[in-house]
Amino acid sequence: MTHDQIERGEIAELYVRGRLKDADRAAFEEHYFGCDACFEEVQRLEQFIAGVREMDLESIVEPAPVPAPVIVMPVWRQPAFLGAMAACLAMGVLSGWALLVDRARLTQEVAEARRVSTDAATRLQMAERELAMRRAAAAVPAPSLAGSLPLLMLEATRADGVPAIEVPAGSAALALWLEPPPAADATRYRLEVLHGNDVVVMLPGLRRNSYGALAVSVPAEKLTAGAYRARLLVDGGAMVGDYRFQVTR
Ligand SMILES: [Zn+2]
Repeated sequence: MTHDQIERGEIAELYVRGRLKDADRAAFEEHYFGCDACFEEVQRLEQFIAGVREMDLESIVEPAPVPAPVIVMPVWRQPAFLGAMAACLAMGVLSGWALLVDRARLTQEVAEARRVSTDAATRLQMAERELAMRRAAAAVPAPSLAGSLPLLMLEATRADGVPAIEVPAGSAALALWLEPPPAADATRYRLEVLHGNDVVVMLPGLRRNSYGALAVSVPAEKLTAGAYRARLLVDGGAMVGDYRFQVTR
């Protein structure tokens, strides 16, 4: 599937709407992890959906007081719009990527809040609370997403040990999201995934996306159950990250 075909066929939109056949979906996923334009487009569409979900979260956190009569409602609060969005959500449009992307955004917001002196405490508290809720939501297994791309955020230090990820039989690939340490700034990175002493996959020429992260996919056929190590290197240079994860099939 080429970028031109994707643009002509409005494939990204069909993808986030869950309207693609399995083979087309797999072909598109293969493409968009390597294509900044398509990756951005998918993020844009999914964040739109995630925005609606965020509104739902807010209403859980702070139950709205009895509203005064409203004369003009913004479009996203109008019942017809909400109904349409609810239908989209029911179709399983909200993928794990939206949650990861949100988490990256919220992590940035927490960092920003720390720098602001006025009303910092309030903003920080709100951003951290939302981040905690997103993490909880991302950890909940969602049966409606069966067959979609399993994804794993790699972190160099984790309080809760080595993360495990299930790669279901129908998955084409495992998606990995990792953020190179700020001190190790480089234009290109290389990721090596090892199983025991065997290099299972080597991914050179990786560039950070607009969130400062690397998003890559590892073909599921390369992954048997077991312990894995991912080494991040500056392309042609030193190792800057060392991550461990466990795959179950
Ligand atoms: Zn593309």
